[in-house]
Amino acid sequence: MKDSKQNLSNYFSILRGERLPAFLAEAAQGIDSDLTEDMPTLWADHDTFLEAEGKTADPGNTLIDLKIELARRIMESCHLCERACGVNRLAGEKGYCKAGEARVASKFVHWGEEPDVIPSYTIFFNRCTFRCIFCQNWDISQRNAGRYIPTEVLSRDIERMTGNVRNINWVGGEPTPNLEYILQVLRICSAPLPQIWNSNMYMSREAMKLLRGVVDVYLSDFKYGPGECGEELSDAPNYWQIVTRNHSLANEHAEIIMRHLVIPGHVECCTKPILRWVKENLDTSKMVVNIMDQYRPEYKALHHEKIGRRLTYREFNEAHRFAEDLGLTLT
Ligand code: SF4
Repeated sequence: MKDSKQNLSNYFSILRGERLPAFLAEAAQGIDSDLTEDMPTLWADHDTFLEAEGKTADPGNTLIDLKIELARRIMESCHLCERACGVNRLAGEKGYCKAGEARVASKFVHWGEEPDVIPSYTIFFNRCTFRCIFCQNWDISQRNAGRYIPTEVLSRDIERMTGNVRNINWVGGEPTPNLEYILQVLRICSAPLPQIWNSNMYMSREAMKLLRGVVDVYLSDFKYGPGECGEELSDAPNYWQIVTRNHSLANEHAEIIMRHLVIPGHVECCTKPILRWVKENLDTSKMVVNIMDQYRPEYKALHHEKIGRRLTYREFNEAHRFAEDLGLTLT
């Protein structure tokens, strides 16, 4: 079995200084695109450029400028995630996630993530595109928290972290509603640090395209199988279709550290179908899997008849052994 250093070889080569993170290597390239054009033209410019790779046509605009413009247009009728609320967030309207101006709830050097990730400069955003009834961060995901930080301030903050952390870890809540803000921060940032997208993976196809050439590692959360669990526990319709699609897209252009939180009573309906799907559909030589045992009933799950309890040792053991038997690289 390969170890995580082999499976995350791109990430580790950035850490060794052998290559630049994607946002400096790809997104900072010049592009010959008129940003006043219509959306289909801008998308064509974007996609053509990414497929061609390596062109530097116009030192005035960069690929990340184009991505920012596309993100802003998406926010005019918001479909950054698959809820596709259609609200005009630039005019102050709010959709399901209730995200307005980007609010950072906290940011600090995190030592509690996977061994390959720590120390990680972790930036927690307010609000989320899910309503997980057992959310352990409900105070920042479901309520107003944090404050707006000017992009140049956060960018300088990140630059000061160079040499002290291994990566920048964008999380929440959920980072997706704040994609345009994050791109703005990275546009003026020169820190050669890998970018980690720590997400529920409910992004729209368009958001996934904007992340290509920016994200080095998806720290993805894959919780529910193909049944109704995603809708029942996180109010996430079509969870399986969306999250499998986004894992496939992430697997094409980046590396993945996939987290699976084992939920009490959900080993057969969720854990096993997810791990089987991963094995059969992804290039597992570019990913590692973290089978997580830290479920605890929080928030609205405290008195839930099925998940208002801790995971048993037997359940976790069964999940872990299933992943091992599939030959997945575990972290
Ligand atoms: S990011 Fe928020 S406003 Fe935009 S589509 Fe998703 S839930 Fe709706």
